[in-house]
Amino acid sequence: MTSCLILGGGINGLLSALLLRQAGLEVCVLERGDTGRESSWAGAGVLSLLLPWNYGPEVNALAQRGRALWPEWADRLKVASGVDCEYLACGMAVLAVEQLEAALAWCAEYGEVAVPLTEFPLPQPLPPGGRGENALWLPNVAQARNPRIMQALRSAALRAGVVLHEHTPATRLLTDSARVTGVETPNGLFSADSVVVTAGAWTGNLLAELGDAPEITPVRGQIMLFKAEPGLLPCVVYQRGHYLVPRADGHILVGSTLENVGFDQTTTAHARTELLNFAYSLMPALRQAEIVTQWAGLRPGSPGNVPTIDRHPTLENLYVNSGHFRYGVTMAPAAGEVLLHRMLGTKVPVDSAPYAWITKPSSPLQS
Ligand SMILES: Cc1cc2nc3c(=O)[nH]c(=O)nc-3n(C[C@H](O)[C@H](O)[C@H](O)COP(=O)(O)OP(=O)(O)OC[C@H]3O[C@@H](n4cnc5c(N)ncnc54)[C@H](O)[C@@H]3O)c2cc1C
Repeated sequence: MTSCLILGGGINGLLSALLLRQAGLEVCVLERGDTGRESSWAGAGVLSLLLPWNYGPEVNALAQRGRALWPEWADRLKVASGVDCEYLACGMAVLAVEQLEAALAWCAEYGEVAVPLTEFPLPQPLPPGGRGENALWLPNVAQARNPRIMQALRSAALRAGVVLHEHTPATRLLTDSARVTGVETPNGLFSADSVVVTAGAWTGNLLAELGDAPEITPVRGQIMLFKAEPGLLPCVVYQRGHYLVPRADGHILVGSTLENVGFDQTTTAHARTELLNFAYSLMPALRQAEIVTQWAGLRPGSPGNVPTIDRHPTLENLYVNSGHFRYGVTMAPAAGEVLLHRMLGTKVPVDSAPYAWITKPSSPLQS
């Protein structure tokens, strides 16, 4: 049986592992720490581009396909793992839209249902200031809870026969002129017919020694979590770079920052103030809600938010599926399909060409 090593157990690693296993391969995942504890845990779980009209067709193609696949994935994961990742088609209100007419025209052309918010009878009122001439309602935007997605994926992958080595960092890729011949770890040498790097923000570090890393760099994002009464907020609300995401049990996430601070994952007082100011100005009722916690995660940033999902330019058995930046949860099911297409030649509805491996001239060397 053909075998595959996946390096990195975030959403893109585990979902790729599951798809490859279902395609009949022997799959082994090497994860540096615990699976699903980095960016895939830290994200807000909005299953959409925040402002789709601001992105290129290659980003929209993966995000739209991912969105279309998510309801089925949520069901499949629940059946396979018993874990409900709380997929919820709650819709998103986008406030203070710049160039509203252009945004509406884009939505009409590309099939994103969007109506001016004043015309749409929401099931419950939006927070004060939530309606206005430049507000849009996107009813097809959904969300899911990241920690539950990762718990479900881990369990589904294990049950499907994926072998998982946690606390096993890949430290070096051994190569000859044409192939990766092995992967060094503190727990010994691993080898397989093919190797897929899904190490998120750390992808560049792992590939740096080969001199062929795509341009993927860490972009810190911080989120604050409130606990309020369930139903206080009916939908995702986005305004000028920040958003509120309500969970069914009353938790409300406030996100997020975009910070180029290397691999620093600490939370900051500055971000706390920024996020609280946004939350309280949009929704004064949150002043009465409990602040539960604040966290930070490192997005795998990429130019234009375009991930790399491709085979290495010269090493015939090395692949990468990384650099999904702000939308790696939304894109994961579609990115996994593209990876399968590149590895096994399976049919895929999305053109894989835009996700080609383009080497960055020099790569970050840090951990
Ligand atoms: C604050 C924030 C908000 C976000 N909100 C959203 C959102 O609403 N919607 C959305 O779609 N996306 C969102 N994202 C982006 C999304 O979370 C990421 O794009 C996605 O999780 C990337 O997944 P990944 O599997 O590629 O990387 P990761 O989840 O970071 O996984 C990479 C894994 O590789 C492991 N690893 C690293 N180096 C090695 C090594 N040498 N050997 C073995 N393992 C290694 C790491 O430990 C990690 O577990 C958000 C991200 C953040 C931080």
